[in-house]
Amino acid sequence: LAAARLSGAEGQEETEMPSQGTALLRHLLLKLRATGPVTVAEYMREALTNPGQGYYTRGGGIGESGDFITSPEISQIFGELIGIWYISEWIAMGKPKAFQLVELGPGRGTLTDDILRVFKQLASLLSKCDVSIHLVEVSPKLSELQALMLTGGKVQPNPEDNSAYMKGVTKTGIPIFWYRDIQDVPAGYSFYLAHEFFDALPIHKFQRTEKGWREVLVDIDPEVPDQLRFVLSPSTTPATENFIQPEETRDHVEVCPEAGVIIQRLACRIEEDGGAALVADYGHNGTKTDTFRGFRNHKPHDVLRAPGTADLTADVDFSYLRQMAQGRTATLGPIKQRDFLKNMGIDLRLQVLLQNSSDKATHEQLLHSYDMLMNPKKMGDCFNFFALLPHHRLLHPDKKHKPEAKSPLAPVAGFGELILK
Ligand code: SAH
Repeated sequence: LAAARLSGAEGQEETEMPSQGTALLRHLLLKLRATGPVTVAEYMREALTNPGQGYYTRGGGIGESGDFITSPEISQIFGELIGIWYISEWIAMGKPKAFQLVELGPGRGTLTDDILRVFKQLASLLSKCDVSIHLVEVSPKLSELQALMLTGGKVQPNPEDNSAYMKGVTKTGIPIFWYRDIQDVPAGYSFYLAHEFFDALPIHKFQRTEKGWREVLVDIDPEVPDQLRFVLSPSTTPATENFIQPEETRDHVEVCPEAGVIIQRLACRIEEDGGAALVADYGHNGTKTDTFRGFRNHKPHDVLRAPGTADLTADVDFSYLRQMAQGRTATLGPIKQRDFLKNMGIDLRLQVLLQNSSDKATHEQLLHSYDMLMNPKKMGDCFNFFALLPHHRLLHPDKKHKPEAKSPLAPVAGFGELILK
């Protein structure tokens, strides 16, 4: 997840989890001995989502006392402004009679909880709209935490009438469902949300050498018992052939094909059924090289050490996401978090919250969390917002023939100046 999390909460004492940490390492060592080196993507997938010992499977360490802190965990304002973004798009798209809010990788459920509060406050506006919540989460532990936060724990596992693995009703009275894969979520008009989700998906790494591109692999270190190291593939791998563009100028490249597949699915769904997707993450526009890193207790962690006990992450390549939308939808951004939140009215919201409280500690907390989200040296600059929207949301279909035919389209909140791609 985030580099910015480093500047977050105080690191607590290292709590070693030797049994779990070494269990996954032992599993990997056996595998590597039997079948040879694996790709970084395979290593990252095992470390994060191995069904028994993966970092997220075991519960992940999100929050102040964990390994990393995310924007929704820092301030309620973050989720509230995102809730307003969806309402504003729902209005701009003519208030459809129903929508699904689909969150990918909801963590502890805090972001959806804040969004639900906004939906509740705007209940009269939404009264005729059939809203449902759909969470895509692989981690059983985290889905339990989400259920507790969002429904108070009143959920039904394995409902027979549904493709979901769990369902319930939110504390605000909205139906809520859990899935392991985006493909299980029913079709229909949907607003998608992915906050710090894409950076947790497995990446392939490639290095330019004198003999051409080689894939970086993970192998056993022959010098040190039970330790892992990076090696280069002796020849090209299928991934090298498929993922490196001929015009590539960098010497080191990271590619996340799983992110590409998910964006393709979102773009297809939005093209067919309508809606929008909002993606927020740290990342770049196809310019960065080696960004693979680990976090534990808010401190950098060697990615190859004690797999399963630390968060592993890589920057999101937004130019790749845009390319994988394949023109099925329009894309907006990436735009810096501080610009997006400013455009969404964060300053006004802060003022209201400050006025509503006379407590000095609350004031300090509000100002501190605002600084964490907005300061360019903290999360303001390195986090970006990116959106997929139906083409007709940004362009009148009859614009070419009758440019003055209709009133101008409402601008997309948050993105300020529109960049049509
Ligand atoms: N959005 C939250 C949490 C981010 S952590 C926040 O900002 O606080 C990443 C989340 O993605 C976790 O909930 C993790 O369990 C989930 N996740 C990771 N890989 C996944 C995958 N392949 N499919 C579905 N969820 C995944």
